[in-house]
Formats: sequence, C-alpha cells, structure tokens
Amino acid sequence: MGAVEKPRAEVATTAAWDYAPAPEAREIVSFERRYGLFIGGEQVAPRSRSWFTTISPSTEEPLAEVAQGGPKDVGLAVDAAREAFRTWSRRKPSERAKVLFRIARILQERARELAVAESLDGGKPIKESRDVDLPLAAAHFFYYAGWADKLEYAFPGRRPRPLGVAAQIVPWNFPLLMLAWKIAPALACGNTVVLKPAETTPLTAMLFADVCRQAEVPPGVVNIVTGDGSTGAYLVREQGIDKVAFTGSTEVGKAIQRELAGREVSLTLELGGKAANIVFDDCALDQAVEGIVNGIYFNQGHVCCAGSRLLVQESIHDQLVGKLKRRMSTLRVGDPLDKNTDVGAINSSAQLERIAELVQSGVEEGAELYQPPCRLPEKGWWFAPTVFTNVAQSHRIAQEEIFGPVLSVLTFRTPDEAVEKANNTMYGLSAGVWTEKGSRILWMAERLRSGVVWGNTFNRFDPSSPFGGYKESGFGREGGRHGLEPYLRFE
Ligand code: NDP
Repeated sequence: MGAVEKPRAEVATTAAWDYAPAPEAREIVSFERRYGLFIGGEQVAPRSRSWFTTISPSTEEPLAEVAQGGPKDVGLAVDAAREAFRTWSRRKPSERAKVLFRIARILQERARELAVAESLDGGKPIKESRDVDLPLAAAHFFYYAGWADKLEYAFPGRRPRPLGVAAQIVPWNFPLLMLAWKIAPALACGNTVVLKPAETTPLTAMLFADVCRQAEVPPGVVNIVTGDGSTGAYLVREQGIDKVAFTGSTEVGKAIQRELAGREVSLTLELGGKAANIVFDDCALDQAVEGIVNGIYFNQGHVCCAGSRLLVQESIHDQLVGKLKRRMSTLRVGDPLDKNTDVGAINSSAQLERIAELVQSGVEEGAELYQPPCRLPEKGWWFAPTVFTNVAQSHRIAQEEIFGPVLSVLTFRTPDEAVEKANNTMYGLSAGVWTEKGSRILWMAERLRSGVVWGNTFNRFDPSSPFGGYKESGFGREGGRHGLEPYLRFE
C-alpha cells in the first residue's frame, strides 16, 4: 500500500455476543477463466491481445481474466453498434419493449447469481447487492420497457427520435445498477450502446452479456468493452458515437467534456458529490440516526450521493453524536458474502489509499476522529466506519469527496445557516433534511442547490424518479421520464 499505513480501527474488544456466520453460497456463480469483449453479440478476443486480472477486494483472490480493449476494439464495437442501429431504431417500439421486459425478468431470475458476483468482484455486502442493486437494476429495465412504445405520449407535440450510438462509461460503486441506468433508457428510445465498465468491477457486465444472449437482444445492440481508463478515453474519441453518458469522478467528467468540445455529441455527466444531511432539533432522532448511518456507511460510502457531511442543529449535537457512535459500534464490518455484514470491503487498494490520505488530513487539520472497535480482516482492503467531529468548513474532509465510510459533522443554529453551509460546496447532487415539519422540508428543498433532496430519509432510489446534479456534480438527469430525454432528439 505504499507509504500509507493500512488503517486499523481501535483494538478489538470482545463483543458481548456475536452472530453465527451466515454466508451466501458462492457456488451459485461460476466465472469463466477468461472473458473476451462483447461485440456484435459474441465474445471476441481483443485485437490488443492484452488481458488483465480482476480480483476480489475482500480476499485479493483472482476471479477471472478480462480483455483490455484497445483503440481497434473500441472501433469495432462502435461499428457493430452503428450497424445494429439501422434495424433496432426501426423496430416496432412494442417489440423493443418486449426485449427490455425479457432482460428485466432474466435479471430477476438470475438475481442471486448476479448479486453474489457483484459482491465478489466489488466488495459490497451481499444484503445490499441482493436487496438494492439487483431489484433496482431489474426495476429500471421494467420501467423503461414500459416507456418504449409511449415516447410520443412522454413528449406530446414533439416527434422523438433516437440519437444513434450511445457510449456509456460506468464506475465501480454500483456496476450492474449503473449499467441498467444507462442501457435501459438508451435501448427503450431506439439507440444502440457501447458500454465500458470500470476496470475493477467488470464481471457483472460480462454476465449481463449472457443475459442479452438469453433475452435475444439482436447482435450489436449492446456491446461491452472492458479495460481501464484508456479504453474509456478511446471510446469518447471515436467519431462514430452520437452520445456519451458518463458516471464517475468530476476530474474525468471534465476531461470528457473537453474532448467533446466542438463535436456534435450529446453529453450527460453524473459526477461526484458532498451531500449535506441536515438534522433539525425537532426530528425523530433515532430515525435520523438510522438515516445518517444509511446515508454514509451504505456501500462503504462509495456513493456519489452519500450523506458525507452531517449538519446538525447545535442544541442536539452532543445527544445525536452519542447516539450515532453507539449505533456505529453495532455495524458489522467484514466478509461481503456474509448476510449479516453491514460494511464490506473497500473496492481497491488505490481507493483505500485515497480514503486514508483524506482521513489523515482531517486529523492533521484538527478534527476529532472516532472509529468504533471492530476487527478488520487481514487480507483485502478495509476501512472502519469513521466519524469526525469538530470539523470546520475549510477542512478538506468537509470539502472533498472521500468516497469511503467517513462522516464529517458540522453544526448550525438557524435554517438559513443550514442552507448556506449545505450549499457551500462545489458539488450539488443530493441532500437530506430531518425535521417533523413538512413545511420546513419544502422551504429547505427550494433553497438547496441539490438535484435530489430527501425528506426524513436518505439514499432512496426509484426508476421513476429523476437523479442528477448541479454545479460540479454534472448535468442531465437519469431516471424517470426526464431520463429519456438525453437519449432523444426531436423533429
Ligand atoms: P473515474 O472517474 O476514473 O472512473 C469512472 C469510469 O471512467 C471508469 O469506468 C473509468 O475506467 C473510466 N475512465 C477513467 N479515465 C477515463 C478517461 N480519461 N476517459 C474516459 N473514461 C475514463 O473514477 P475512479 O475510479 O478513478 O475514482 C476516483 C474518484 O472518483 C473516487 O474517489 C470518487 O471520489 C469519484 N467517483 C465518483 C463516482 C460517482 O458515482 N460519482 C464513481 C466513481 C468514482 P477505469 O475504472 O477502468 O479506470
């Protein structure tokens, strides 16, 4: 791990009682030794002749070899998508809908297998991949299947037409779910796609290629090119694309925007966040504590809309932080395949270094760190749930996206001050408001510069609800009727 010390929580104290292990059966998924690129409906060896190994972040065990897509491979994938666009875009919309419904049903049928694969390759707890990622991925396909033959009604008086070939680049925090967010609306609108999964989590995308085969998606309608960041860069540079949809870091989002400047390629960016979770003194405190925990420790905090800044009204600060620390001490960190696990593995050693570096900066800048006692496994990459109190707005941990299980607590006195502090960030993706007054939630929501504002809850997703950012969190919306528009032009 280079110069950065592997973070360790306080020494484990013996818990008063413990859970028996409850492992999900790993045998349900069997990976091939090697995965080629999925182009024109087939797995093909990369022209680059280059492969890399994807490993499990919780055990460091190699899972499979995956193709490293080079410029020629990306070109072939875009050609296949162009060719397929000629027929797919003219297919009867109700026929396109049938294909999407089939995908949705197969995702449901293979949900256990895909959930285990997601947890193995990405490190997230099985209860999250099983209860969140998979149901939502299937729900997105069901939802957009429903729109496929109703586009004229979605945009009355306008004549919606597909754009062409959509280049889609997804990150490692919700690999299959982000794939669904991208592919479902694109296909429903009559586009074809070339998708690039993240380097550290390509396996559920490769299993999805098999789902496409089962669902009889016509060859070339969905193409998947695996590889690292350079593969994504080749894809964006390809002249045959009509649209780029990207989810990932603000830095790469800006690079993509620069690359596309002057080209007639439509772009949507879903980038980072530093969401404020705002807790008023009149809220249901125990419910808020659950929401705070879910807001930041869900998926190890690898969530763009994570509630990573807790803004708490000064009068309840001590009481709330006390309750929060008690709740944190009950979180179980460890084997992602254990059904009792709350916090799984950090996705990669590089991400762990980033988290450790930012946490170190928090300590050096004078914030107070707390981690509950917990045992971290020897192998793999782990970070204990962490909370910082005494955080100043100028601290890096209050400004930068940590993308890990690290919460920064700040205080406010009045609603105006809460709004001002919440908006004091370059990001604008999400926010949460906890109060018993509905009118206050609406008052806050009007003033918060965030694409999503949750009231008395956090991290709730639904395919019918649009999601996206302001400021450096990007632009364009995914989900809902709004999520169709970026994949259409109007005559
Ligand atoms: P990136 O933005 O680098 O990765 C997102 C996707 O873009 C991946 O598929 C990646 O490929 C690809 N990519 C990387 N470079 C390029 C490029 N030049 N052109 C086109 N595509 C490219 O995120 P990281 O994985 O590096 O994470 C860094 C930080 O970004 C995190 O710490 C977090 O703060 C933030 N992040 C935010 C996410 C969000 O949902 N908003 C998601 C992921 C990260 P590859 O994985 O192969 O490098």
